[in-house]
Amino acid sequence: MEKKILIGKYNDSTGKIQQEELEENYIGESAEEIYKRLIRDFNSEEKERYGEKADIREFVFAEWKDEQSKGIIYCDFRKTNAGTLNEGRRFFDRFVCEKCGRVKRVYGINSGVLKNVKCRKQEDGQ
Ligand SMILES: [Zn+2]
Repeated sequence: MEKKILIGKYNDSTGKIQQEELEENYIGESAEEIYKRLIRDFNSEEKERYGEKADIREFVFAEWKDEQSKGIIYCDFRKTNAGTLNEGRRFFDRFVCEKCGRVKRVYGINSGVLKNVKCRKQEDGQ
């Protein structure tokens, strides 16, 4: 079975984005599908073991290392609210790019909006 390096990012229980590289079997699934499943498994094991003290992770981003775009800098979003915010009946989390200050709202678990956002701060100064 082919193995590939998966790069995954998650929000830890303090809201800080962490990154990890994992060697995974590649059977045609997207990096996102695999990584979401890994996080789900991790969370349920944590809850079982530590109950309310569980260190719950929240999916942010995943990609295969060999599909990583070269040279383009993407926004590095960090969650800025501790609890979920709301506007009327719509609940969201607010994320800010650490590099360029771009603000994104994530409604529900739709963290796809944080994926592959080209950062306004590119290395060549554009
Ligand atoms: Zn940015």
